[in-house]
Amino acid sequence: MSPWLSLVLALLALGCCTAAPRRHQPTVVVFPGDLRTSLTNTQLAEEYLYRYGYTKVAEFGKSLSRALRVLQKRLALPETGELDSTTLEAMRAPRCGVPDLGQFQTFEGDLKWHHQNITYWIENYSEDLPQDVIDDAFARAFDVWSKVTPLTFTRVYGREADIVIQFGVREHGDGYPFDGKDGLLAHAFPPGPGIQGDAHFDDEELWSLGKGVVVQTHFGNAGGAPCHFPFNFEGRSYSACTTDGRSDDLPWCSTTANFDVDHLFGFCPSERLYTQHGNADGKPCVFPFTFEGRSYSACTTDGRSDGYRWCATTANYDQDKLYGFCPTRVDSTVSGGNSAGEPCVFPFVFLGKEYSTCTREGRSDGRLWCATTSDFDSDKKWGFCPDQGYSLFLVAAHEFGHALGLDHTSVPEALMYPMYSYTDGPPLHEDDVKGIQHLYGPRPKPEPQPPTTTPATQPTAPPVVCTTGPPTAHPSTSPTAGPTGSPSVGPTGPPTAGPTEAPTVSLDPSEDVCNVDIFDAIAEIGNRLHFFKDGKYWQFSEGQRRSVQGPFLIRDTWPTLPHKLDSAFEDPLTKKIFFFSGRQVWVYTGPSVIGPRRLDKLGLGPEVTQVTGGLPRGGGKVLLFSGQNFWRFDVKTQKVDPQSASPVDHMFPGVPLNTHDIFQYREKAYFCQERFYWRVNFRNEMNQVDEVGYVTYDILQCPEA
Ligand SMILES: [Zn+2]
Ligand SMILES: [Zn+2]
Repeated sequence: MSPWLSLVLALLALGCCTAAPRRHQPTVVVFPGDLRTSLTNTQLAEEYLYRYGYTKVAEFGKSLSRALRVLQKRLALPETGELDSTTLEAMRAPRCGVPDLGQFQTFEGDLKWHHQNITYWIENYSEDLPQDVIDDAFARAFDVWSKVTPLTFTRVYGREADIVIQFGVREHGDGYPFDGKDGLLAHAFPPGPGIQGDAHFDDEELWSLGKGVVVQTHFGNAGGAPCHFPFNFEGRSYSACTTDGRSDDLPWCSTTANFDVDHLFGFCPSERLYTQHGNADGKPCVFPFTFEGRSYSACTTDGRSDGYRWCATTANYDQDKLYGFCPTRVDSTVSGGNSAGEPCVFPFVFLGKEYSTCTREGRSDGRLWCATTSDFDSDKKWGFCPDQGYSLFLVAAHEFGHALGLDHTSVPEALMYPMYSYTDGPPLHEDDVKGIQHLYGPRPKPEPQPPTTTPATQPTAPPVVCTTGPPTAHPSTSPTAGPTGSPSVGPTGPPTAGPTEAPTVSLDPSEDVCNVDIFDAIAEIGNRLHFFKDGKYWQFSEGQRRSVQGPFLIRDTWPTLPHKLDSAFEDPLTKKIFFFSGRQVWVYTGPSVIGPRRLDKLGLGPEVTQVTGGLPRGGGKVLLFSGQNFWRFDVKTQKVDPQSASPVDHMFPGVPLNTHDIFQYREKAYFCQERFYWRVNFRNEMNQVDEVGYVTYDILQCPEA
């Protein structure tokens, strides 16, 4: 371009803008990383019509009128054949990813189940909701269908389930990628073998129960009830947890709409209250802490490649090596922008003004946003604040309809209509019931009972199948076991219950093994399970009858070991017992010991801060675990095989990330996370999770008190 031409253009541009009449408008800022949709309406329509089965590739660029008419009929819109505003609005609405036309022909079979006892497996979870809330949403979504059919739904643990439920993002393994936040929410495959019958949920959506984020509280005086957003406190309205009214910087929320009236509250997940996983027993972060010589006053992802936020639980990580992962606060974790996944930082400065809540200022689209550092003007880091989210229950009920063989309907009020809409009421419409009963028939009426002397005592429901019990089936598992806050909450004052003294257990856990929540290490030694905790251990055997012996003092049996172990295993061949704690290893052969030695001696580099478990695999090889990786270890050379590091989830799909104790017992592998274990069966080289349970109730057979 000639310099003349560019000058003219510059002048023209200048001219156009200065000449425009000045109107008093709010400042609109160009946000870095803001996604601008560059699709024209026609391009949007072409993509939509193709994706949902209304056109074939060959029809791109041709008149869309015919396809638009079909779509308008299907979605019960005015049939204009034009790309009018109603149609465009429908195309932008959140919806199910299953095509409206044509896709069911491409699958095997006649697209209904031929047995009535359907099984399902929840393969993984979204971070947006507590796991028991997700379990419950899926169970209720299946209930919707079992109430009107003869079908029953039983939760199992393993890929052989009829319906495998998965959260995923973008391309997640089936060739039907998700599209990021909004738009496509979920999809499911019609009944049949393999992937058929499975339901997938886009984990870039914000999953809720349809009315905003669900934040479970800790401590306080509301028994762990979820936050109520928005809530009023001292006359102001809050739509996220706040530290207002407290001097200790702990975020809290009201669990009813009005704190000023009801005074019910709890603390929100916070790294100042506790951490997860890591090696510090869930202790809270200590700020500031030192890591590689630098001082940190907030959680960081430095030193990690997986993006997880962590902190030290003492003032000096370099020295103490104690850490934990910071809990996610769904109510203030941003999406989009240039900081997705990070929390809002309040207050933050934007154009010189301070903000202590999310704001719409600076945006032309009116969406709520916040900065993720304290100064937007200099750092330019931001993201969108959480919205109402999509009801996992409603979306799941719709997808399970597909998994049972239903297609989309054009009745807008029906559950099987392709667009999402929130309702509080019963989700099924007559149209849905007709559809599902066409496939499976109605729910059988109870057998008429001959009149007896004691009428009306016959149960009308079929006997409840007693499953092996998902973790949620056990009582008193919520984190509400802590003291329920001080009764000192004055009628006008802010919550004053300091949770710092709270996470102590009133019972002495040192004697009864059933009072231990989370063990330091578990290992099979001499055909008995050993449970280690804080310098003590118990032995568990399962002969003719189960018995627990102990506690014994670790130092009485293995005098050189530290108080706190990370893991242990016994090599089945040589009977050598390996104990791990931090970066150190001890090897006992009978009463004689070698060690402590540093993990470097085994060929484990400084990135391995602890060994979380060992699984003897025969041939003198043991799998050693740390974080999300494992190594093949040779007992004879006492070195890990070079280049043997592999991600845990490749070899053991279905076990959670960040398990803290992995051990072998009776030829099966156990992966522990908090109080739960995932048991993996090595049969047929399949490495399937075949049981999930509680360490105390299901292995140690503790009574459920
Ligand atoms: Zn659908
Ligand atoms: Zn999928």
